[in-house]
Amino acid sequence: MKITMAHGSGGRQTAQLIDEIFKKANSNPVLDMMEDSAVVAGDTKIAITTDSFVVTPLIFKGGDIGSLAVCGTVNDLLMRGAVPKYITSAYIIEEGADAELLTKIAASMAETAKEAGVTVVAGDTKVIEGNGGIYINTTGVGFVNENTDIKSANCKNGDVIILSGTLGEHHAAILSERMGVKNNIQSDCAPLGEMVQNMMNTGIEIHAMRDITRGGLGTVLNEFANVSNCGFEIAEEKIPVTPEVEGFCKILGLDPLHMGNEGKMIAVVAEKDAEKAVQIIRKSKYGENAAIIGTVTDGEGVTMLTRLGGRRTVTELYGEGLPRIC
Ligand code: MG
Repeated sequence: MKITMAHGSGGRQTAQLIDEIFKKANSNPVLDMMEDSAVVAGDTKIAITTDSFVVTPLIFKGGDIGSLAVCGTVNDLLMRGAVPKYITSAYIIEEGADAELLTKIAASMAETAKEAGVTVVAGDTKVIEGNGGIYINTTGVGFVNENTDIKSANCKNGDVIILSGTLGEHHAAILSERMGVKNNIQSDCAPLGEMVQNMMNTGIEIHAMRDITRGGLGTVLNEFANVSNCGFEIAEEKIPVTPEVEGFCKILGLDPLHMGNEGKMIAVVAEKDAEKAVQIIRKSKYGENAAIIGTVTDGEGVTMLTRLGGRRTVTELYGEGLPRIC
């Protein structure tokens, strides 16, 4: 079945679209009430984030726009020390979209939400003229403990920088699909709740966290440096990159430091807890290649000690030049 403008009419075909695809993929007591808004429990500080997903292709090695929409949103909540609880999902569907593809994406979204521990409590579908494209907007809500205060401004001289794994897979996977390059690079798209919650439950003194998405590690560290008025020093040889992604970057002249991931994060932690934190991340799902990659100093900007023993300034990503990776 192809989606037609009638599926966006708000009438019978819209109900059919919701029943046959979205309700089948995702059913829970709050959503099934089909009320105008979700009323949910909550009695603490909350974290809220929203994100729109326009990736092409819609399905790629290691994930799809549905799993990506959940991971991107959940990870942003986690980075402030929140426990993700609720998510909304709004689909903008171009007429001509394949219903089978939409079914797969909705199922993948539901499965990832389950893994991430979030309930989809509200949703919307709109059908517009177009050429079969699918776009998703998600808003996430998480609960934050009263004493938790994790933010970039908290980075300070002496802190240790931990990277949760290898750089660049998501970006390289999307670029490979779009350019028709054959390789085995898979997107690292993943919810990072286990590693974050394991660190928080162990009482690790986390000052800041950020997931590495568009702009890459270089951009994240520059943002941290600017906001905290500290310097960030990293060592090239400590930064994990798979040989396959490294090869891919070399051929295309890309820098892994500016490649986007969707299942990797930076944690800036107090020096006393650094070794413990990296062990915790390594033992968590999606964190087996975690590494300490550098330290925070009283200087400024981001500097990298190269493999050859030189030093170079790491800039944030300038310009775009990158495809729709998320
Ligand atoms: Mg983020």
